Amino acid sequence: MTPVIAVVGRPNVGKSTLFNALTNTRDALVADLPGLTRDRQYGEVELADFQATLVDTGGMLGDEGQLTGMMDEQIMKAVEEADLVLFVVSARDGLVGDDERILKRIRQVSKTIWLLVNKSEGRVDEMALAEFYQLGIEHLMAVSAAHRKGLAELKQSINQHF
Ligand code: GDP
Ligand code: MG
Repeated sequence: MTPVIAVVGRPNVGKSTLFNALTNTRDALVADLPGLTRDRQYGEVELADFQATLVDTGGMLGDEGQLTGMMDEQIMKAVEEADLVLFVVSARDGLVGDDERILKRIRQVSKTIWLLVNKSEGRVDEMALAEFYQLGIEHLMAVSAAHRKGLAELKQSINQHF
C-alpha cells in the first residue's frame, strides 16, 4: 500500500518546507518568493507500517491570471490523484480569503482533507486557531515544519488513517 498525499495551500504557508521535512529531502524549492514551486513534486515518506507518496504543489491563488490558471490545474490534478489532502495554512497570517477560496475548490473533489496550521511554533495564537476551526475541517493539527514540531504526530495520524 502506497497512499498518495497531496500538500496544498496558498503560496508561502510552508508547503515545501513541510514536504522536505517529511521526506527528508531538500528537493522541493523553499524560498521567500511566493509560489516558487510551480509544478508537482513527488517524494516518499517513511511511516511506521508503510510508505506514502507525498506530492508538493505550487501556490494556488484562485484568481484568473494565466500562470495561476495553469498552477491551479496542476494542484487540482494533485488533489484528484490523492488519497488524502493536507491543506496547509499559516498561524502567523491567520485565515485569509485565499485560504477559503482554495478550500472551496479542493472541496469540490471529495477527498479527505486535513487542516495543517503551520508556523505554529512558539506561542500559538488561539484566535487564529479558532478562526481555522470555523472552516469545519474535523482533523486539525498545529505544526511547525521549520521547527519539526508536530511532524511525528502527523506521521502517526497518517499511519493510523490508512
Ligand atoms: P510554500 O510556498 O508554501 O511552499 O512555502 P515555503 O516552504 O517555500 O516556505 C515559505 C516561507 O515560510 C519560507 O521562508 C520558510 O522558511 C517559512 N516557513 C516554512 N515553515 C515554517 C514554520 O513552520 N515556521 C516559520 N516561522 N516559518 C516557516
Ligand atoms: Mg513551495
